[in-house]
Amino acid sequence: MRLCQFEAGRIGLVRGTQVHDVTAIAARLGAHGYPLPRHDLLIAALDGLRAEIEALADQAAGRPLDSVTLSAPVANPGKLIAAPVNYLDHLSEAREDLIVFFQQKVEEIDKIGLFLKATSSLSGCGQAIRLGFPDRRTDHELELAVVIGRTARHVTPDAALAHVAGYCIGLDITLRGPEERSLRKSGDTHSVLGPWLVTADELGDPSGLSMHLDVNGERRQTANTRDLILSVPDLIALASRHYTLHPGDVLFTGTPAGVGEIRGGDVIDATIERIGSMRVRVEAAQ
Ligand code: MN
Repeated sequence: MRLCQFEAGRIGLVRGTQVHDVTAIAARLGAHGYPLPRHDLLIAALDGLRAEIEALADQAAGRPLDSVTLSAPVANPGKLIAAPVNYLDHLSEAREDLIVFFQQKVEEIDKIGLFLKATSSLSGCGQAIRLGFPDRRTDHELELAVVIGRTARHVTPDAALAHVAGYCIGLDITLRGPEERSLRKSGDTHSVLGPWLVTADELGDPSGLSMHLDVNGERRQTANTRDLILSVPDLIALASRHYTLHPGDVLFTGTPAGVGEIRGGDVIDATIERIGSMRVRVEAAQ
């Protein structure tokens, strides 16, 4: 199943090149008074609603995907978790380019663990990436993004994938500079998720997915998730030892080599095998 969000709060089921409006499923998410739960209501209920979502899609006329504006496929993630340096080739690149990386000691993930990005940085591929500091360097980072489906606390790597709802393409947009990662990677629109969520049963094993990213038609990043230092199950196990993972939490798994600068007017095309492709525009903030 491929689920998307589009226009203003519409929920869609993607079939081929068409999107079918299944927004009516939101009525089945129950009444939640203040304070709201910390998880994403749709992702938490997804397993039990799949037959109803398919039935709604059967009744809804399809619209071409290229005629709608896609927003992030998870509306309300409680956490955006990210892996700092999780491909050996990117670690080498970062250690060699100390000017771009501001003389910071670039450590391996098993030493420094994970970091968090602000949930307000979440964006979809239909919204432009806005560069808040056009006078400074901002980079693209292509990453497999994992969406948690079941509450996870102290899970083992063997049990980890059973807690995944699905996968998206992630862009971890990064302002270069001396500040903490969590600040530089949390600007508005700096966490792009798209184009849709492919459920875990449809995607299968996430450990051998090829991916690539182009800027203005030029290939910048090419990788395969088999080269992750910490695999998807390892990352989930690590994260769940530190904090409870809730349905809808997103885990950015880290970027391979080839990170590079983006500027206003650029067009990013990102593809991950068995998920799809998305195009995102870049704008310099006024
Ligand atoms: Mn990253």
